[in-house]
Amino acid sequence: MLSSFLPKRLKDRRLRKSKTMIRPTFVGAIDQGTTSSRFLIFNQKGEVVATHQLEFKQYYPHPGWHEHDPEELISSVEICVDGAVEEFEKQGHTREQIVAVGITNQRETTVVWDKTTGKALHNAIVWTDARSQELVRKLKNRIGAGELTSRCGLPLSTYPSVSKLLWLLGNVQEVKEAYERGHLAFGTVDSWLAFKLNGGTARNIHVTDPSNASRTMFMNLETLEYDAELIDWFRLDRNKVILPRIVRSSDTEAYGSLATTSLKGTKITGCLGDQSAALVGQKGFTAGLAKNTYGTGCFLLYNVGPKPVISTHGLLTTVAFDFGEGKRMYALEGSIAVAGSSVQFLKNNFGFIESSSELSALAEEVEDNGGCTFVTAFSGLFAPYWIDDARGTIFGITSYTKRGHIARATLEATCFQTQAILRAMEKDSGKPLAELAVDGGMCNSDLIMQTQSDFTGITVNRPGMRETTALGAAIAAGLAVGVWNSFDDLEKVNNEGRTIFKPAISAQEAGKKFARWEKAVEMSRGWLNEA
Ligand code: ADP
Repeated sequence: MLSSFLPKRLKDRRLRKSKTMIRPTFVGAIDQGTTSSRFLIFNQKGEVVATHQLEFKQYYPHPGWHEHDPEELISSVEICVDGAVEEFEKQGHTREQIVAVGITNQRETTVVWDKTTGKALHNAIVWTDARSQELVRKLKNRIGAGELTSRCGLPLSTYPSVSKLLWLLGNVQEVKEAYERGHLAFGTVDSWLAFKLNGGTARNIHVTDPSNASRTMFMNLETLEYDAELIDWFRLDRNKVILPRIVRSSDTEAYGSLATTSLKGTKITGCLGDQSAALVGQKGFTAGLAKNTYGTGCFLLYNVGPKPVISTHGLLTTVAFDFGEGKRMYALEGSIAVAGSSVQFLKNNFGFIESSSELSALAEEVEDNGGCTFVTAFSGLFAPYWIDDARGTIFGITSYTKRGHIARATLEATCFQTQAILRAMEKDSGKPLAELAVDGGMCNSDLIMQTQSDFTGITVNRPGMRETTALGAAIAAGLAVGVWNSFDDLEKVNNEGRTIFKPAISAQEAGKKFARWEKAVEMSRGWLNEA
């Protein structure tokens, strides 16, 4: 063998080199959520090898207001990166094996900063915040309000970033002044993270991806560019507010690289809003695939393909992801305000259970809901109903009713609302759904997933590894740098430990249950307005 003639020093170097060449590569995912930040490190099979999570402070300055400290969002992410990398290296890996980082984030939440100083001008206004209610009511009366949705996919409400930005401009002197001077930088949390993690004004990276930009009401869904007419309609001057450049969800250069933490120098190459990331993590790459995330609330995204479908049945239209030509997909989206929080409600307010995981056992103490239907409209009903004046209502209580019946009625409420969203999606898209991929805390319950399959008459597919949101961000980043080269390459990712739930009741029986639910929804209407 030729190598046996090589000097020892050269041989050692060759050996070292061949060892580093076969060392596996990993991808990091920043998951900046509403209550916590996390950093997860994935291997090429899509398995989590290290993770770190940190909760941060929630600010509720007035009823209906919800804020985050933008600096704390950044510091919490940095701590998580360092924590996870430490755990990763303890396993014998080196940080150089992490070849790219992806970002996924709470959507709509709005941050404003001064472009010259890089300082945030106000706390971040969180997606749940309803302070712009009055402002939105006025906007709805402006001529042209009805035509906005067909351009940007969202109806006017307190939810999209625009209403939060307009509130800041109308109420915070510093924001107004920065705007007048042309210094006002706007961003959703992904933009703020990319800006700060790149070192702020030193590099001035100011970008966003279409899945996040489509939550602002500034982006045209067809062109994936800012729409001058939309911005004019909101009476904003493009020369005075600096919007992030919209780039692909997967990009080798645009998002820059980490300027701090133990991963300093590592490129950020992927970015997706949280619900889009979950769809990607569930490998919902083609039209007709859908995922439902059962967290505090519940978000269902249905991939409708490469052209946007504007809903006429109470759903939102959004960019699912943009991985370049031929790999850009849109989704219909349905959100349920109260899902896991109804389980928390039984635990915290009624003391029915001590932990969420006990819900199923309590519900299984009885055979059915005993005639009870619980419309969990604690703050009205979201998609597809959009009833503001409904409040939580339990129908059918008799002296026979036990706690188990209420537990069943509670979990059924989330399943019925999911069913209503799926029906709306089928009407909008013209295609029936064959299978629903699921994730989020509530999907841990077999009973809830079986109930979901029974009600909808479709297969429910639950992965073993449920960190699908973070996996989606890792996939976006990994696709840019060749960790995975195509959607086909991802076939082998996250297949293990799946549980399949098949419908076990007839369509007729399911139809009867749903009709009863719809009756209850109708009867819960208007409660808030009653004298
Ligand atoms: P988020 O990301 O919104 O914080 P998670 O996906 O972590 O939410 O899910 C948390 C929610 O799931 C909680 O509201 C909790 O009550 C609910 N949950 C967790 N495990 C179960 C379970 N086994 N059965 C029913 N609900 C559950």
